[in-house]
Amino acid sequence: MSPIVILGAGHAAYSLAREIRRHDKNAGITLITRDSGDSYYKPNLSKALAMGKTPAQLVLKTRPEQETALNISVQPEQRVTAINPATQSLSLATGENIEYAALVFATGAESRRLALAGNASDAVLHVNDLDEYRRFVERSQAAKKVLIMGAGLVGCEFANDLHSQGITSLLVDPAAYPLATLLPNALGEALEKGLSQIGCQQFYSNHVTELNTHKYGYQAKLANGEVVTADLVLSAAGLSVDTTLAETGGIECGRGIRVNSQLATNQPNIYALGDCAEINGQLRPFIAPILPSVKALAQSLLGNPSRIDFGPMPVTVKTPCCPTVACPPNAKVEGEWQINGEAGDLIARHFSNGQLTGFACTGKATAEAKTLQAELA
Ligand SMILES: Cc1cc2nc3c(=O)[nH]c(=O)nc-3n(C[C@H](O)[C@H](O)[C@H](O)COP(=O)(O)OP(=O)(O)OC[C@H]3O[C@@H](n4cnc5c(N)ncnc54)[C@H](O)[C@@H]3O)c2cc1C
Repeated sequence: MSPIVILGAGHAAYSLAREIRRHDKNAGITLITRDSGDSYYKPNLSKALAMGKTPAQLVLKTRPEQETALNISVQPEQRVTAINPATQSLSLATGENIEYAALVFATGAESRRLALAGNASDAVLHVNDLDEYRRFVERSQAAKKVLIMGAGLVGCEFANDLHSQGITSLLVDPAAYPLATLLPNALGEALEKGLSQIGCQQFYSNHVTELNTHKYGYQAKLANGEVVTADLVLSAAGLSVDTTLAETGGIECGRGIRVNSQLATNQPNIYALGDCAEINGQLRPFIAPILPSVKALAQSLLGNPSRIDFGPMPVTVKTPCCPTVACPPNAKVEGEWQINGEAGDLIARHFSNGQLTGFACTGKATAEAKTLQAELA
C-alpha cells in the first residue's frame, strides 16, 4: 500500500509524523525533503548565541535518529519536480516516481528577497533554516556591527541576540515602530526603547535602497538619504511561499497553498500545513498553529475527517531587553486598542463592538499573558 508522503522535514512535518504514529503504529510514512532531514527547533535560531549553542548543538535529532524513533522513512536532499494528482504520485529530479495514499505539503516558506541597488546586494544574508544560520554564525564571528533589514519578530530577536555577544545592531524598517504588524503603537515604542537601551540603533519609516561594499564592510544608503555602515547585512523582511511545485498539480494557491479547515487543498488527498498553508485565506507562520493542525490532520489522514479549532495563539517575542507577548486581532477585525500600565510595562486590549479580539503586553506585564489569553478564549 502507498504511504502517506509528507514534503518537508521541519517542525510541521515531523510533528505530523509523530502524531500519526501516536495513533497508528503501522501506517507507512515517508518524508521527502530538500534538506538533510536533521531536525531542530527553528525559534532557537534567534536566541542561540545567548544560549551559548553552536549550530551543530541545535540539532535535536539527526535524520537516522528520527527514522528510528518514529519508524518512518526520510528521503533527504531531494528535489520534487511535479505532483500528479491523477495517478496519486510525485516525480523526483532523479527520475523516480513515488505513489502516495495522501500527500501533505509541509514545505515552509522562503525569506523574502529585497531588491537593492548597489554592488553588494548578493552579500545579504537570510536566516530561515539551520544551513543559513550556520553561514550567518561563521560570518558574524568577526563582526562588530550588523545591519538588519526588518524589525519584525525575527529582526528584533536577532538584534537582541547579537547584543548578547557584544555586537551592535542597526535595525531599519519601513514601519513607524518595531513589530508593527503585531503591536499597537505604544507597545511598539516600549520595545523600541528596550532595544535602544541595549545600544541598538533604529531607523523607522525608512528602508535600505542601495548596498555597496566599503573599506570595512558594507555601506547602505537609506531612503531618507542617510548612509550607515556595517560589517554584515541580514535581511529579516518576512516570508513568501513558493507555490510553484503545488501549481504543477493544479493545486489552488494564493499567498500560500490554499486549504480549508481540514487543511485539504482542492485536489483529492492533498493537504498543506505550517508556514506554506493559507488556511481559509490566512497565513499563520508561527509554531503554535502547528499543534492543532497536526492533531486534526492526523485524524483526517487516519480516516476520521477533522476540522481545526484555532483558539487564541499568542506569540512570545524573544527580546529580553523588553519581553513582549502579542496576540493580534484577525486582520479583518476593526476595533480599538485600550492601553493600561506605565513605563515599559504595558497591557493592550483590542476591542471590537465591545468584545475582546486581541491583546499584547510588554515588560513585567507579560506575566499577565496567560490571564489575557484566557479572557480572549
Ligand atoms: C529565526 C526564527 C525565529 C522564529 N521564532 C519563532 C518564535 O519564537 N515563535 C513562533 O511561533 N515562531 C517562530 N518562528 C517561525 C516558526 O519557526 C515557523 O513558523 C515554523 O518553524 C514553520 O515550520 P514548517 O515546518 O512549516 O516550515 P519549515 O521549518 O520552514 O520547514 C520546511 C521544510 O520543507 C523543506 N522544503 C522546502 N521546500 C521543499 C520542497 N520543494 N520539497 C521538499 N522539501 C521542501 C525544507 O527543507 C524544510 O525541511 C521563527 C522563525 C525564524 C526564522
